[in-house]
Amino acid sequence: MKIFLYGVRPDEAVYLKEWENANPDVEIDYTDKIVTEETVDLAKGYNGVVMLQTQPYTRLALQKLHDFGISKISVRNVGLDGFDFKDLRDFGFSLTSVPVYSPNAIAEHTTSLMLRLLRRVPEFDEKFNNADFRWFPTIGEEINGKTVGIVGTGHIGSVVARLMLAFGAKVVAYDIKPDPYLENLGIYVDSLDEVLKQADIVTLHTPLAKRDIHMIDKAAFAKMKDGVIFINAARGGLVDTDALIEALDSGKVGGAGLDVLESENDVFQKKFDKIEDVKDPQFQALLNRKNVIMTPHTAFYTTTAVHNMVFDSLNDNLKMLNNQTPKFPVDISED
Ligand code: NAD
Repeated sequence: MKIFLYGVRPDEAVYLKEWENANPDVEIDYTDKIVTEETVDLAKGYNGVVMLQTQPYTRLALQKLHDFGISKISVRNVGLDGFDFKDLRDFGFSLTSVPVYSPNAIAEHTTSLMLRLLRRVPEFDEKFNNADFRWFPTIGEEINGKTVGIVGTGHIGSVVARLMLAFGAKVVAYDIKPDPYLENLGIYVDSLDEVLKQADIVTLHTPLAKRDIHMIDKAAFAKMKDGVIFINAARGGLVDTDALIEALDSGKVGGAGLDVLESENDVFQKKFDKIEDVKDPQFQALLNRKNVIMTPHTAFYTTTAVHNMVFDSLNDNLKMLNNQTPKFPVDISED
């Protein structure tokens, strides 16, 4: 069997070697390039492909893979918004993802964004760099005693809920399919609006379904408490970024921790000479605010997570190639 991997980073290569040593009958090759209509030819002659990218997978690229006789695709991450499932169905692909690689990685990062905002770390960093070691007036706040609103309590949101309870916060959560275990903890409220109304800190942990694009828009921000702390480490498209900028300008949002942005594909995972070279107006409008912390989609990025992404995707690709049931099949029968 021969499997080709796209978009491989140097930190993944070590785990590829480990997997290859454990599976000596399988030949694996890889490129750091992502799947495009130009790079798709690299997969010619292979049985399966494993990918990871934030850019969309185009229909033409998928058609070419199909023409090469490839029908098994595995992605090394959760997000499937880069695929048009109709394209996958049209070309007869089977798909696996890695829906759970380390929920703690994202939940802990989410918590660190909250803590850094509450303890006003950007302001203290600036003061420190200017040899100003006085604490007044940069007083912080605690998670303990706050009401934390969690939207989506799946793999990641449920860990955030447990972490927040451990901090001594009151958790109010909304999920279209509540988790029975968390239900026993009495954290659920009946609607998104109720979360937005009650929470001192709002954090998003839902996927980006088409119906949820701009789930948090101008009207949603208006429902939040004045000075709310807003965290998004889920998907940029869940938030109307212009509405967020407006809410920051008006003081409605007192602090924002953003690991994802609507327009991140043009910015994150790229190196610019200087920050001014980033032409994205929304990114620029969020920069240089003491109450905004942006991280470039790094919430997932831990050694545990990367190991699991490489191993689970390759294991599942091989299972599909051997006509065995993969651990994480994706149902592509509906859009
Ligand atoms: P999950 O599928 O396990 O959980 C999502 C939960 O959201 C489910 O319980 C679902 O019922 C609920 N949900 C769906 N639509 C909803 C809605 N409109 N309102 C309320 N609840 C809704 O997903 P997960 O693994 O916990 O991932 C959550 C998010 O985190 C996803 O957007 C994912 O892409 C993102 N993510 C980000 C990173 C990162 O590095 N920043 C890494 C991994 C995942």
